[in-house]
Amino acid sequence: MTDPCSVKVAVRVRPLVPHEISKGCKEIVEVIPENNQLLVRSAEKAFTFNYVLGTDSAQEELYEKCVAPLLKNLFEGLNVTIFAYGQTGSGKTHSMGTSYNGDENPGVIPRAIQDIFDHIKDTFSVDYTVTTSFTELYREVLYDLLSNRPKEQSILELREDVTKGVYIPNITELPVESAKEVLDILMRGSTGRATGSTNMNAQSSRSHSIFTVNIAMQHKLDKSQNKTAKLHLVDLAGSERPKKTGAQGTTFKEGVDINKGLFVLGNVISALGDEKLQNGFIPYRDSNLTRLLKDSLGGNSVTLMIACVSPADYNYEETMSTLRYADRAR
Ligand code: ADP
Ligand code: MG
Repeated sequence: MTDPCSVKVAVRVRPLVPHEISKGCKEIVEVIPENNQLLVRSAEKAFTFNYVLGTDSAQEELYEKCVAPLLKNLFEGLNVTIFAYGQTGSGKTHSMGTSYNGDENPGVIPRAIQDIFDHIKDTFSVDYTVTTSFTELYREVLYDLLSNRPKEQSILELREDVTKGVYIPNITELPVESAKEVLDILMRGSTGRATGSTNMNAQSSRSHSIFTVNIAMQHKLDKSQNKTAKLHLVDLAGSERPKKTGAQGTTFKEGVDINKGLFVLGNVISALGDEKLQNGFIPYRDSNLTRLLKDSLGGNSVTLMIACVSPADYNYEETMSTLRYADRAR
């Protein structure tokens, strides 16, 4: 079992995409797998992470190496949180599989769900109750992607209570009994994410999407043995500075709100990774993203950050910025 409160970092370099190849972009990121290192041309420093995945890495490799070992913790009653971080176009959604559409070679989410239900099927001694929810956080406002109401009416509130901790009244939490049911829900929710706004690409790259699987476990013979665990699969907003997206109508406030979640998340993860600060102050309350994930970051939980980068020369600044962010989390 992984140490509780552990944070691991994987960096994945996507291949050049066709329009980059036709523009003659050069690859400037090199992976040295035997040392878990990554080099960026013309940068002085090599970065070391728990896992490095080069341009030829398969979806299966990401899942089997970095994700599958963490999921075992769920059945011990630990929460698991997996983030994809990186600039827009770096491969977050591809790696997470957030916009799953029945594809043959899916990302993390469909694979994780399949494995969870395989485990449940094979464990006769325990009764499992599984529910799922899917939310989107945009400019510090939380939306319920599984609500049947229009987007403007599916705003959720984050509340905090001494006994319950952080909770979300009225969130749609659907009971599920098979991997297929969960995947249908994922597909439904990600369609809601994309079509919920008139400026869909702009919004989906600037919002965090959070897919959550809640698992309650009760031993069939010994009713006193019960545990709960949550798996959060988070496709974060693009980490680029807002001006680079070139979207119309970007307000200063919007840039501040979006980067606030990423900024505070960086601070929280870095504080968790620093043993001297373990008993110290963790700034969860500084953003809604970290408030929402409070009981799943630190404490009884395990975290993986998948930092996604582009290999292309023109993305040098953003790639370096992602690597520095990931380096701080380590
Ligand atoms: P993001 O969610 O970070 O904005 P996407 O996941 O949408 O980025 O990826 C941008 C483009 O790059 C997509 O066309 C995607 O299919 C492609 N891509 C990303 N990662 C990979 C990869 N590892 N292998 C092949 N194509 C990839
Ligand atoms: Mg995306």
